[in-house]
Amino acid sequence: MNKNFLSFLCIISVVFSTYAQQPGSYNGNNRFEQLESTLPTPNSYRTASGSPGSAYWQQRADYDIKVELDDINRKIIGSEIITYFNNSPDDLPYIWLQLDQNLFEKNSTRKTTSTGGITNNGISAEAFKELNNTKEYGYKITSVKDAKGNPLRHTINQTMMRIDLPSPVRSGQSVSFSIDWNYLITEYYGRSGYEFFAKDGNANYFIAHWFPRMAVYNDVYGWQHKQFMGQGEFTLNFGNYKVAITAPNDHVVGAGGELLNANQVLTSTQLKRWEQAKSATRPVLMVSQEEAEKAEKGKPTGKKTWIFKADNVRDFAFTSSRKFIWDAMQVEVEGKKVWAMSYYSKEGNPLWGKYSTMAVAHTLRSYSKRTIAYPYPVAISCHSGMGGGMEYPMISFNGGRPETDGTYSEAVKNGMIGVIIHEVGHNFFPMIINSDERQWSWMDEGLNTFCQYLAELEWDRNFPVRRGEPQSIVPYMRLDAKNQVPIMTNSENIMDFGNNAYAKPATALNILRETIMGRELFDYAFKEYARRWAFKQPYPADFFRTMEDASGVDLDWFWKGWFYGTEPVNQSIETVEWFGIDDQNPLVKKQKEKEAYEAKRKTMANIRNKTDIKETVVEKEKDMNDFYNSFDRFATTDEEKKKYQDYLASLSEEERNLVLSGKNFYVVNFKNKGGLPMPVIVKLQFEDGTEQVLRFPAEIWRLNDVSIKKVIPTDKKVTKWTLDPFYEIADIDTDDNAFPREPVQPTKVQLFKMRQNAAPNPMQQQNQRNGAGAISGARN
Ligand SMILES: [Zn+2]
Repeated sequence: MNKNFLSFLCIISVVFSTYAQQPGSYNGNNRFEQLESTLPTPNSYRTASGSPGSAYWQQRADYDIKVELDDINRKIIGSEIITYFNNSPDDLPYIWLQLDQNLFEKNSTRKTTSTGGITNNGISAEAFKELNNTKEYGYKITSVKDAKGNPLRHTINQTMMRIDLPSPVRSGQSVSFSIDWNYLITEYYGRSGYEFFAKDGNANYFIAHWFPRMAVYNDVYGWQHKQFMGQGEFTLNFGNYKVAITAPNDHVVGAGGELLNANQVLTSTQLKRWEQAKSATRPVLMVSQEEAEKAEKGKPTGKKTWIFKADNVRDFAFTSSRKFIWDAMQVEVEGKKVWAMSYYSKEGNPLWGKYSTMAVAHTLRSYSKRTIAYPYPVAISCHSGMGGGMEYPMISFNGGRPETDGTYSEAVKNGMIGVIIHEVGHNFFPMIINSDERQWSWMDEGLNTFCQYLAELEWDRNFPVRRGEPQSIVPYMRLDAKNQVPIMTNSENIMDFGNNAYAKPATALNILRETIMGRELFDYAFKEYARRWAFKQPYPADFFRTMEDASGVDLDWFWKGWFYGTEPVNQSIETVEWFGIDDQNPLVKKQKEKEAYEAKRKTMANIRNKTDIKETVVEKEKDMNDFYNSFDRFATTDEEKKKYQDYLASLSEEERNLVLSGKNFYVVNFKNKGGLPMPVIVKLQFEDGTEQVLRFPAEIWRLNDVSIKKVIPTDKKVTKWTLDPFYEIADIDTDDNAFPREPVQPTKVQLFKMRQNAAPNPMQQQNQRNGAGAISGARN
């Protein structure tokens, strides 16, 4: 660049240098420093790249269980042989088991430490029942013996039990022992229990965390010793299961495993239907509604034992009832056949027959594509009464129930499909990618909710997704910091569980995929995380590190802001300054000076004087004029014209084009009012009606995390600027996102009269209009 050019470009060059160095505007911040000591030191078990290390190990526990479901006394009676493989480098003198049913004991820590009062609205039926419960819930452990049948010393500490071994189980060796137990089944509480139907006197059973299970011993915590308090879910080992379930002989039993004795427990008609279901494209009824309704009026004549096996699973759950309708279909998932099935009583129809198994099949395909191919032979959705759902390997218990007339609201339908996708999706997180739920709820709920969001939109592009879109998290992000905890908070200490453990991490991942990393880099890294940690136990750092390692994107700032912090995103456009290139053309320059001079002469006094002063002296006395009365001080001289021509001639063609281009330079002042740094995405609307969107990475805030200026050159004049035009960053205040500002819409008030109470759902309204009763297909 030559000297002349520089001097003539003075306006622009001042702007550039101000911007490049930002003297006086540095606002030191550590938002883009590495997480360093926040993350655990990498070692040979877990590497700095986020993958399992060369010395990675995990324990294994195999179970051989015989259990009886006592339908009269609502009781579980079981005995098990556990074989525990010590793959750790350590000798273990004692081992710990989990006694989850002790959650319901009268003096459980959950009860004695639960807080809260009675509100004006009173007390919930559940809380009332619990406060007044007189039943003796919890495990009755009747025997603990070694492989030779000798009793083993054991100590129960709330929801855990320590077994003292006669001699330590050595590194690389295994130990077998047996336990007998029984317990009273609780009413369904959200994770397990029974639902009783007073109308026909039957119960649907959803049996989970029903046997003493091995606690986890690992390289991160040693023995996992956080008690089961109800909110923090489960930390579990993989192993192989053989489970023989004895139930009344008119019950239909479904379980998270492969049925080994179909020939013994199914009728010949059912075996034929099973064969049909192998090639069906819609679920085939193994037990029809008619058959189920007949069964619920009958009584058992004996018992029947259903035998299941499940390999390489971290848990085992089952369901049982004489009320069950059962449908099944074999579906192809990544080139492998998998059974998709549902168990539901007539109360679930017509919704369950139509959607449940189809939603199971869709979930397996959608998740397999993004993680690993579904490795198990079966995936089941059962209809439990409550609205939510609960997951176990290969089997889940889900809500979503129509009205008694068979109609349902759109919310019930979509809620049911959503919850089935979610709970079946949990097969991947945490049943296969076996994160430690007792510690970190977001690692399964957040990742799963993110995949659920993607799967819901593949089910129906208009699906009313609840969680995942940045806009939906805004009300939560607006909360005061004192009413929030970071995503990186232990499960039992989380406030606002749904937003913290599900919605915020799911949204963060969606933002990573759409806005920070892009779909290609994100999808590759996310799949790599699933691949690395399938059938292993990852912790948060393993996820954070893998996402960076496989994508080549430094995301430490993102984890800091979204996972370790509670600050919201709130960007604004404060000011826009407009600069053009001064091309130094004397004709143009003088003309502008003339216009400015004349404009300034239009004062009120001069305007009035035009008529008030009839004639001035120089107007009247012509000889009072001289050279200066007619001199044009804004005329361009020949010298000035020549100087300009010489200047143009001295420029290279490229420089000359730039000088003559008429380009606009805007200096836009963006502010980060919320704290959490995010990319700046800004839409420019030009005077000719066209638009352009510019995207600047979050690192734009690295020298100043409060206020920055950015020079934006354009060919056309910008008439309007809009921040975050696609609602990507969860900005909690969008009123300051436009420049010039948009007028704020008034808040409109509604007359109370307009509100409707308990309106019939749209299906019922339609039926009323048609003068019809219940829609066809409704249950009775
Ligand atoms: Zn969940």
